[in-house]
Amino acid sequence: MTFPTTMQALQLQGSNRLVEVQVPVPRPPSDQVLVRTVSTTVCTSDLNDIAHNPFGIVLPRVMGHEGAGVVAALGESVSQFQVGDRVAAHPVIPCRGCENCQRGLGHLCSNLGHLGLDRDGTFAEFFCIRADRVRRIPPGVEFAVASLLEPVAVCVEAVQRGRIQPGETVLVVGDGPFGLLIARLASRGEPRTVIVIGRHDFRLHQVLPAIAIHERRVPDVQRAVREANNGRGVDVAILAAGSPVALELGLASLRARGRLVVFSAVQGTPSVDWFRLHTQELEILGACNDEDLIDAALERLADPELRLSSLVTHRLPFAEWPRAFELARHGKDEALKVALMFGEQA
Ligand SMILES: [Zn+2]
Ligand SMILES: [Zn+2]
Repeated sequence: MTFPTTMQALQLQGSNRLVEVQVPVPRPPSDQVLVRTVSTTVCTSDLNDIAHNPFGIVLPRVMGHEGAGVVAALGESVSQFQVGDRVAAHPVIPCRGCENCQRGLGHLCSNLGHLGLDRDGTFAEFFCIRADRVRRIPPGVEFAVASLLEPVAVCVEAVQRGRIQPGETVLVVGDGPFGLLIARLASRGEPRTVIVIGRHDFRLHQVLPAIAIHERRVPDVQRAVREANNGRGVDVAILAAGSPVALELGLASLRARGRLVVFSAVQGTPSVDWFRLHTQELEILGACNDEDLIDAALERLADPELRLSSLVTHRLPFAEWPRAFELARHGKDEALKVALMFGEQA
């Protein structure tokens, strides 16, 4: 196969300066796969990186970390894939050598590599990724859904961290793509009450079978949560919004021995009701990245009951990238996940 020497890509060059550029097509190092991108989805963290660069990305950098496509070339030591395979990539690259990796916590690796952060990412016609972080896309799963491999993996982790037992009630605070995904995963299988709090009708209409509460349409959100749960507090609250108010609501909604899963990055250092935590024996758990849930996530991609295709509300050709970012940033009444598509779309 012959490929072009240069490719289109979106490069972050400075604060709020994402620029379309022509850059060389990368060559895959020995343990990597070169993927011709078909779909790449915009993540909230891309928007934060573009605006504030909280991780101190060394610029310029090709952004993007949620991608799927077709294998275009293989590094010398890669034997498990073939050129032409339809694949999805997980952007987190554990070093496998540090203390956390040795403990089996590769997602908390001290030398973590990450597409779009310390290496060029998926907002490009081609990207390279270590072969162990790549999976073949299950038959029948479209590329746009396959690019949700990592978002699904981190949401599976958030649900698992809550150790939800049969019959327990779950509250999800936040109606963004992650909040809806977590709600759908928590509702799957076991019949249970799942409640989602948000502030966008468009998004709250998609939470079924969960119960939706619009925080601005009820006089008292905490009371509305109790009423939705037969007057009781919830067993597990998962924070998919990072405001101090969301944190306070999540914690205040828990019944005795309840668990709060902090999935979103909470802004600032809000105070916590430690007395209530002590007397009600509450737990607070962090959830960030996923503990090698790549194969579990792959199975979820093919689960028709999760209706993941409906979470990708927009599939735009790459040329329309400014509109894609505008929708992801401000289109909360019409957009969830926005995908940029290159060429073939099947
Ligand atoms: Zn992401
Ligand atoms: Zn490591």
